[in-house]
Amino acid sequence: MTAAKAIGDTLETVAAAQQRLLDSLTPLGAELVGLDGALGRVLAEAVEASHDLPGFDNSAMDGYAVRVTDLLGARVEAPVSLAVVGESRAGAAPPELTPGAAIRIMTGAPLPAGADTVVRQEDTQRRGADVLVEVATPRGTHVRRRGEDLRAGQTVLEPGRTLSAIDLGVAAALGRDEVLVRRRPRVGVLATGDELVAAGGSLGGSRVIDSNSPMLIAAVREAGGDPTFLGIAADTPDAVRGLLRVDGYDVIVSSAGVSVGDHDHVRDVVAELGEVNTWRIAMRPGKPMLIGTVGTALFLGLPGNPVSASVTFELFVRPAIRRLQGAAELMRRRLSVRLGEAMQKPVGLETYARAVLQRADGALPVAISSGAQGSHMLRSLAAADCLLVLPAEAAELPEGAIVEAILLR
Ligand code: AMP
Ligand code: MG
Repeated sequence: MTAAKAIGDTLETVAAAQQRLLDSLTPLGAELVGLDGALGRVLAEAVEASHDLPGFDNSAMDGYAVRVTDLLGARVEAPVSLAVVGESRAGAAPPELTPGAAIRIMTGAPLPAGADTVVRQEDTQRRGADVLVEVATPRGTHVRRRGEDLRAGQTVLEPGRTLSAIDLGVAAALGRDEVLVRRRPRVGVLATGDELVAAGGSLGGSRVIDSNSPMLIAAVREAGGDPTFLGIAADTPDAVRGLLRVDGYDVIVSSAGVSVGDHDHVRDVVAELGEVNTWRIAMRPGKPMLIGTVGTALFLGLPGNPVSASVTFELFVRPAIRRLQGAAELMRRRLSVRLGEAMQKPVGLETYARAVLQRADGALPVAISSGAQGSHMLRSLAAADCLLVLPAEAAELPEGAIVEAILLR
């Protein structure tokens, strides 16, 4: 009896299997990358402001830089006339403002020494070399103060954050052209099954297109991993062994061949080359699911049905790849939703139902099934915008029940 067989038929809960998996992983090393290579990477440092933001007092409006004490009593019927003695424009040092005068100023241009306020162009009238100011504004109006957004040394982006386009703009504004991020996990992806042909290959007889591999490769990339396709293994121990004897991967993800069929060899080969830690999880779809190691790589053996493969990817592979990157958020966003219809499910299995959300005014979103739920059925998977998490113990959830939804889009 192999080590794998000794584990027997005990079903582990999703939460326990996830916890054990994540506890076994530590983040990979860090590397410096330029901002144009940093989108979607996970920060391994705190990014602080290297200088005050804004860096200098400047104008929020096109208008005139003035002293508030020169405007006292100004109104439309009794404007104050000031001599325009110069201009402040973005990117240039402005002249100094003398009492009783005004300096033409553009948005973003530095506030001249001596000025304390900006009057909007709309509240003035130009009269040759003078400007008539028609309002008396409080001191500091339309002035953006140095450091009012951020002070030098303040942390803006925390370690563990997945960098968005906005974050990269913020990092650049903070004075950075490189950031320290976690290495992308190298992930080998393989398929198993005598019936499989690569996408675009000729069908016929009982052949089936390997749709899992393109899906898994893209999903690995979306999670921040660096995927490599290892190929399709035939249903023999030798073929599976052949594809698993690889070095240099942090994670290996396979699909199919992991159940109890006569031609399912993944579990025995993993037990031989490494270790099986979890096999069979109390969930639907996805019950036959293997978590273990092969050499130094984490091994995740997903079921073959495309829906099962994608759901188990969401629940196990994605968080593992995120954890290896040190990400603060391991899972996709979840939301409480109300069922728009009753749903049946097998008792004892946490069930992930493909569903679509309908927005309800002022209330929780309402979720309805996105179609027939067989684990081989792609139509409802393509139509789904979320997975509903239906608790293991229930046999039926009534219309109106509140459940968690994992947002897929
Ligand atoms: P298995 O887990 O090997 O019993 O496969 C379960 C089901 O998933 C079978 O109907 C397979 O044909 C199908 N399947 C297995 N691998 C893939 C794949 N890579 N792409 C699409 N379907 C697959
Ligand atoms: Mg198979």
